[in-house]
Amino acid sequence: MSRPVQAQRLEGLDKNVWVEFVKLAATYPTVNLGQGFPDFSPPDFVKEAFVKAVSGENAMLHQYTRVFGHPALVTILARFFGKLLGQDIDPLTNVMVTVGAYEALFCCFQALVDSGDEVIIIEPYFDCYEPMVKMAGGTPVFIPLRPKTPAPGKLMSSGDWQLDPAELASKFTRRTKAIVLNSPNNPLGKVFSKKEMEIIADLCVKHDVLCFSDEVYEWLVYDGKKHIRIASLPGMWDRTITIGSAGKTFSATGWKVGWMFGPDHLVKHLRTVHQNCVYHCPTAAQEAVAQGFQREFEHYGKPESYFVQLPQELQQKRDRLVQSLLAVGMKPIIPEGTYFLIADLSDFKAEVPNLPDCEEPYDSRFIKWMIKNKGLAAIPVSAFYSTAQKRNFDHLIRFCFVKEEATLKAAEDILQQWKLKKTGP
Ligand code: PMP
Repeated sequence: MSRPVQAQRLEGLDKNVWVEFVKLAATYPTVNLGQGFPDFSPPDFVKEAFVKAVSGENAMLHQYTRVFGHPALVTILARFFGKLLGQDIDPLTNVMVTVGAYEALFCCFQALVDSGDEVIIIEPYFDCYEPMVKMAGGTPVFIPLRPKTPAPGKLMSSGDWQLDPAELASKFTRRTKAIVLNSPNNPLGKVFSKKEMEIIADLCVKHDVLCFSDEVYEWLVYDGKKHIRIASLPGMWDRTITIGSAGKTFSATGWKVGWMFGPDHLVKHLRTVHQNCVYHCPTAAQEAVAQGFQREFEHYGKPESYFVQLPQELQQKRDRLVQSLLAVGMKPIIPEGTYFLIADLSDFKAEVPNLPDCEEPYDSRFIKWMIKNKGLAAIPVSAFYSTAQKRNFDHLIRFCFVKEEATLKAAEDILQQWKLKKTGP
């Protein structure tokens, strides 16, 4: 065949950081602080609900359920988020269950972005936004969060990374269809403040632009920070699709239950995409997640709530990893949310020499070396940047700290040994 086999829209989209680094971490014996998944079990109440769903009397839980979401799940999601947003949410028209947040994102771009449309993406960003925009025929337009120097004696925080409001305004054009907002942000852990969200919301309203709000880490905020839902700001409900994930919410990434909610005039187009691709999500997993939300609804804000307990535990894990990294001389950027932490490895550059002509970003080469030589896995931060910016941020690597104590201890030991070798006892 003389013409290319693949559809043209796939041109240049074949590389995927997760495929490459997950494989590498599996090939070598590693302490894996790379990909974002807990190495501990989900809470008992959702596991028991899943077991009951598959071993209980109700044979229908093994069969197809409603295409756009199992009734029990869309009902409780509508109730739960309706209350949080102070918004009437109709389970049948405003909510849809998806195969993880990934499918919800895919539906947004396929349903609402057309050829020639521009989509604003804030850097650093969860890497799949860019190919998903391109596969829909759209053009990603990037705007960086810019780090400012922290106050003397203070460690850098993800809050020190901010948008320049004038620069952001300049990205909105006649062709802008949507902006993707991810707060808390993967990989930085930034939790956008109400003021920052208001700036974004005002621009969306002014330019009649949609907002795809990826809130999968909504419960994982630290130090008393508050997660703000942009759909609750004036003028935003009608133009926002909010996306969530049971993978992050209940520490069950393998269940691949996600959801989105928003106004019917947008959601109905996402339903068209969903019914023509995956059509349906696994019933028993949806039932278990529904039970989990029911339980959390009843315990909302109380000490026994998983949504209260998980961030408390994670904040301790975060602080522990911060100390381990500081002890060896990697400079951590303290995340306000998520279970990721970015560290600056500039002082480690002697370990892996810079190769100015090498196409591969430095952080990517560094991590490959670290996996093979130190048995520690992380993810290169350049993977969360557009091609134009990758080189400017290839001195940073992302660690995931949603791990058992033993895993964090093993990572700590590796870092300690490393330091001894570098500096001597
Ligand atoms: N959005 C963000 C920001 C994520 O980090 C992830 C998972 N890493 C997803 C979406 C996808 O979530 P799910 O596993 O539910 O598809």
